[in-house]
Amino acid sequence: MKTLVIATKNAGKLNEFKQMLGELPYRIVSLADFPKIEIREDGRTYDENALIKASIVAAKTGLPALGDDSGLEVEALGGKPGIHTARYAGEGASDEDNIKKLLSEMENVPWEKRQARFVCSLALVFPAGASLVESGFCSGMIARKPCGVHGFGYDPVFYIPEYGRTMAELPDDEKNKISHRARALKKIKKHLERV
Ligand code: IMP
Repeated sequence: MKTLVIATKNAGKLNEFKQMLGELPYRIVSLADFPKIEIREDGRTYDENALIKASIVAAKTGLPALGDDSGLEVEALGGKPGIHTARYAGEGASDEDNIKKLLSEMENVPWEKRQARFVCSLALVFPAGASLVESGFCSGMIARKPCGVHGFGYDPVFYIPEYGRTMAELPDDEKNKISHRARALKKIKKHLERV
């Protein structure tokens, strides 16, 4: 069986990839299996960061690698936190810290102005050098308080009007049909199936 390295240490992302790639003939491993690999995420865009992650991992492991860079863009905050989503409340911030900061910045924003979207860029890089990048989006609103226990990151405050629930209230298989990551991966999967 072929092996694909997911270039992440984020357990939430990794779980989602394992579920979504389950039917493909790949053994899925991650940076947890290569603890010595260090990645400095210093790109200026999601695409650049996804490519940096996948390229370093493909070069160091000699295996095909999938890099994910994702973030949250909130209209009322002029698109912030954007590529700084993971570090919104500071270096090493927890999901709870980030949500707390977001809700406090949004305290005075009325419901009809709380539109946001999740963005995901995925880069697939092969050790011989071939690469491709695809992106996906998911639109919603920033809830007034956290709700739900599924998913990770900002899911408890990402409300999806069509479902009347936050992302964290959706079971994993539902999130994995509509998320920004699922939409980007759908495009990448076509290439993985062909290899
Ligand atoms: P990255 O690891 O640099 O790509 O940072 C991604 C940031 O966006 C982290 O703070 C994640 O928690 C957040 N994020 C990405 N995807 C999701 C998601 O599907 N749900 C909730 N938060 C997410």
